[in-house]
Amino acid sequence: MPDADLTKRILKAVDDGFDDEVAFTAELTRVPSLRGREAPAQDLMARAMRDRGLTVDRWKIEVDDIKRLPGFSPVAVSYDDAWNVVGAHRPKRATGKSLILNGHIDVVPTGPLDMWSSPPFEPRVSGGWMYGRGAGDMKAGLAANLAALDALGRLGLEPAGDVYVQSVVEEECTGNGALACLQRGYRADAAIIPEPSGDRLGAAQVGVMWFQVKVRGRPAHVAYAGRGANAIEACFPLVKALHELEEHWNAEKHPAFAGHDHPINFVLSKIVGGDWTSSVPSWCTFDMRIGLYPDMDLADARRQVEQCVSEAARKDPFLGNSPPEIVYHGFQAEGYVLQEGTAAEALLAHCHQAVFGKALEKRAGTGTADARFFGLYAGIPAMVYGPISNDIHAYDERVDLESLRRVTQTIALFVVDWCGVAAP
Ligand code: ZN
Repeated sequence: MPDADLTKRILKAVDDGFDDEVAFTAELTRVPSLRGREAPAQDLMARAMRDRGLTVDRWKIEVDDIKRLPGFSPVAVSYDDAWNVVGAHRPKRATGKSLILNGHIDVVPTGPLDMWSSPPFEPRVSGGWMYGRGAGDMKAGLAANLAALDALGRLGLEPAGDVYVQSVVEEECTGNGALACLQRGYRADAAIIPEPSGDRLGAAQVGVMWFQVKVRGRPAHVAYAGRGANAIEACFPLVKALHELEEHWNAEKHPAFAGHDHPINFVLSKIVGGDWTSSVPSWCTFDMRIGLYPDMDLADARRQVEQCVSEAARKDPFLGNSPPEIVYHGFQAEGYVLQEGTAAEALLAHCHQAVFGKALEKRAGTGTADARFFGLYAGIPAMVYGPISNDIHAYDERVDLESLRRVTQTIALFVVDWCGVAAP
């Protein structure tokens, strides 16, 4: 930890830059970087990195480059506009440890706009919160990574280890953006990801899997509905059976999730089917997101899902002879538990204590984050640590600005101690 005087100066330097940090968070939030449309926001990040003297690497993800790597998730969408951006600080003579400051630029869809109190891509500040889609998840975090370095720059301090500021795509659906950073060779002694973890350390995360169930029925005129087989209604028992599997897994428990009543969530999140109101529907497709415990094998989870669906289908007179098809694209993500007792975690706890005046709390997340790539596939302790944010993936998403300020201070202190400071 920096001494008391330096600590004070670093905290003040973050305060001095905080208006700029908030303004940059708003600027990023204003760009609707939905999946497939991240490029303009990535341009903004690349420019911000270049302005700070970082060496910018901006590249398009190629599925062929990453598809054989562990952690890859299959995709059904085009990567024609999937750009990653990394800004590197490399001191002339690296004497300190290296660090990755990672964040994702992609945001999830808004849902019906009339449910928002104000337009989701017109960020506004009210009552100490900044509102907007992506404000918390996680444009504030991306801004914090840069603002922490800005604060050191303001004091004339240069990190004495390599620092890689990463802005990746695809976090919300596959994680292939973070995987592409590994494939490109980026490594460090630790990684911090300021996802909105509520001023706490995300020390564990569930695995996440997406799949699609395609059901066929037999079309008929509704006047003779009994001759048909309704593909939409045939999905109901399948969904019910999957929820039974969900409860079965929740009953199994996992030590990292002992504090959660219901860590495993299966969510029927999309459904489409049918063509005409007066025809018995001949097709239906539903999408489900499921959670997995960190020690569950993905192939085994897929087997259990397939068995569950096929057993439920066998009870249906039509589906028994026309079994549903299961397709996997999107997340095939293993769970991750941060290794206990790392120097990185101890230092983060120290810095957090210095800023917040209380101990760093740990939490086990029932969602996933890119931390798994660094931790599982590169042996890099990856710490999810970011601000308080409410209603992410919902209406009126917002981030607590005071929390953002303090998280930024913690990161700035961490960088100084972890990387050291280069001699002028
Ligand atoms: Zn996120």
